[in-house]
Amino acid sequence: MAQLIDGKKISADIKEELRLEVETLKEKGVSVCLAVVQVGEDPASCVYVRNKTRACAYIGIESKSYELPESTTEEELEELIEQLNQDPSINGILVQLPLPAHIDEDRIINLIHPSKDVDGFHPINVGRLWTGEDGFLSCTPAGIIQLLKRSHITLEGKECVIMGRSNIVGKPMAALLLRENATVTIAHSKTENLKELTKRADILIVAVRKPKFVTAEYIKEGAVVIDVGMHRNENNKLCGDVDFADVEPQASAITPVPGGVGPMTIAMLMENCVKTVRE
Ligand code: NAP
Repeated sequence: MAQLIDGKKISADIKEELRLEVETLKEKGVSVCLAVVQVGEDPASCVYVRNKTRACAYIGIESKSYELPESTTEEELEELIEQLNQDPSINGILVQLPLPAHIDEDRIINLIHPSKDVDGFHPINVGRLWTGEDGFLSCTPAGIIQLLKRSHITLEGKECVIMGRSNIVGKPMAALLLRENATVTIAHSKTENLKELTKRADILIVAVRKPKFVTAEYIKEGAVVIDVGMHRNENNKLCGDVDFADVEPQASAITPVPGGVGPMTIAMLMENCVKTVRE
């Protein structure tokens, strides 16, 4: 039986550590405030925003919600971001993605001041990640590093294969694994001989946005498998990019969906919020 990597427990541990840190900060007169901006009423976004504000409340981070109508123009949103950038009482700014199609997401992300960019998406923070400077880390990949470390899985010298090259998962994941001295390969939809490649992986990280895409055929015996995918099937049940039942017997450790990577993303967002006020 593979070790089940328990994202629920690890994220709860991190949130508890942060709650205690925020308590101590408050005693010193330091508070943390996150601005959460949502445009439109995409149902999935509403759930994510609700979970984020709940996590803030638990940890003791103040959150201010800005719920804007779908019809909000790019200029109006830009104005709000500028205002939040300049407001000293706001420590972090989170713009829930996706934005409506008439708004240029990259333009908005680039407008958030890098010192308030708690999602770690601003090019300055992306650059800092790759050069090894201190900055905000993209939450999902940072959460995966925590999952691995807190499960006592060694990264140094290990062969890691990442399936997927998105800006929010695959690419920052590669940078973080390199920092940990892993040997990293990124695969994508044009990769040839995909199974040969993934079968070399000591640690396989799957972020392809395809339900149950990865089966046992992709896995080396004893590999660690991290499933980033998140999908709802026809019965409204969550599943990942990995066919868990098929892969689990072959893996030495594996993340479930739900309860694996998902809860870590919010925990690392909270970590970034607290980081805005750390000395
Ligand atoms: P994305 O932007 O859609 O990127 C998917 C990546 O997978 C692309 O780079 C694509 O390659 C690659 N890909 C597609 N088919 C492939 C194949 N057959 N073989 C190899 N690579 C293939 O997705 P994302 O934003 O990174 O998200 C990935 C998954 O993680 C989604 O299910 C998403 O819901 C989930 N997610 C979960 C969390 C969380 O907190 N748990 C956070 C973020 C994302 P090309 O570049 O060549 O197209």
